[in-house]
Amino acid sequence: GARVTVVNSTDGDRERAQAAELEQWAAARWGSPRTKSGGASTEGGGGRRAGVTVRLGDGDTLPEGTELIVTTPGWKPASPLFLAAEKAGVPVWGDVELAWRLRGRDGRKAAPWLAVTGTNGKTTTVQMLASILKAAGLRTAAVGNIGVPLVDVVLGEGQEDGTSYDVLAVELSSYQLHWAPSVRAHSAAVLNLAPDHLDWHGSMEAYAAAKGRIYEGNTVACVYNAADPVTEDLVRDADVEEGCRAIGFTLGTPGPSQLGVVDGILVDRAFVENRHRQAQELAEVSDITPAAPHNIANALAAAALARAFGVPATAVRDGLRAFHPDAHRIQHIADIAGVSYIDDSKATNTHAAEASLAAYEHIVWIAGGLAKGATFDELVRKSAERLRGVVLIGADRALIREALLRHAPDVPVVDLDRTDTGAMSEAVREATRLAETGDTVLLAPACASMDMFVNYNKRGDAFADAVGELAANGH
Ligand code: ADP
Repeated sequence: GARVTVVNSTDGDRERAQAAELEQWAAARWGSPRTKSGGASTEGGGGRRAGVTVRLGDGDTLPEGTELIVTTPGWKPASPLFLAAEKAGVPVWGDVELAWRLRGRDGRKAAPWLAVTGTNGKTTTVQMLASILKAAGLRTAAVGNIGVPLVDVVLGEGQEDGTSYDVLAVELSSYQLHWAPSVRAHSAAVLNLAPDHLDWHGSMEAYAAAKGRIYEGNTVACVYNAADPVTEDLVRDADVEEGCRAIGFTLGTPGPSQLGVVDGILVDRAFVENRHRQAQELAEVSDITPAAPHNIANALAAAALARAFGVPATAVRDGLRAFHPDAHRIQHIADIAGVSYIDDSKATNTHAAEASLAAYEHIVWIAGGLAKGATFDELVRKSAERLRGVVLIGADRALIREALLRHAPDVPVVDLDRTDTGAMSEAVREATRLAETGDTVLLAPACASMDMFVNYNKRGDAFADAVGELAANGH
């Protein structure tokens, strides 16, 4: 019989959830394999004999007779197991590939996917998109690399209990795209591309190629960022269905096949509804929270995908007005003694931190963590004149300190030399000491959190708690 090897890491909540997904998938496909961790092999029912091997926490050798590997995203493509699989011609699927292949099982109706990827803004954009689609009266959900696991969504899809969708707003990470060779979206957007996760992908080219995968086979629109030429190149290189259009978004005046901004109004020149084919007004910049430039770009991308799906302009406005961002994304925590405290713990890379540093005038910046192979020169150079001071925490803080020495030698830096969770409280106190009235203390670490915290949520919570302590101590 066929033999499937399921590789899981047990590193975090996300991985554990995915392990459960994969076992559920195996159960759906082959009856109820009583899988065990540590390489137990089981014979499934369901009319087909199959061995499912679940291997937890190790991806070294290819078990004899393996015909398919199903993996969680944590494993690098360069892991010995995958190299062996490639050599042996054994396919590797991730959770998204699984979900795609499971959708529409048993003749059920499966919703088309509107897909979003990019280095930053994915979650925000799919949530805006879902909000717009809902405002248009469509049954939808924001899924993928966010919230409910995609496999669960498609397994429930089309059932009598009402879990059926008209369309899905799907967030896809570069990891997921790397292991999802057959996904074909209705329309898809790449929001931006900046170096991130290079340690996983191996190179910027490999990272870009994984992101570009999202356009392959699109039927209606490939949405690109006109300010980020690499995204347009990816559209050009993609193999799409006949009639599929390239649609750009820009913060400036839009060209003929673009959405953009004119006098504070989001306009659509690509999917116009009026008889004279003039630009269609969609919403006002002030309908978007927060109305920072990067977030207006997210709104335009969401609008482009919704419009590709045929949503009217009024629903774009209503959906954007109804949208509020998740916690830890430029979240205002408190104003204490004339200083504003902002939690952007989700700024886990330099590109995201650059966007949030650009949103404030005078900043005491709390930064540091795991750099994931990034360099900080460009970020520091672009942000130097806004910095009142910097407080560094975490494992790779020396990289940021060195960039500060090179490009902002006059900015005071407090290097805490700490990687324990309690460091956040000291960081906030030090930042407060450096801040002047009217300044912003901004947690935008430009790094991943796992050296100090379980995840970015916990890092942001620690920041909010520390700000709470300040307030309680009467600062
Ligand atoms: P993702 O799901 O891609 O990680 P989020 O919407 O969760 O994206 O936002 C991640 C971080 O990136 C946040 O810190 C936010 O401030 C920043 N960000 C959001 N949108 C953009 C964008 N379009 N360009 C740059 N940074 C952005």
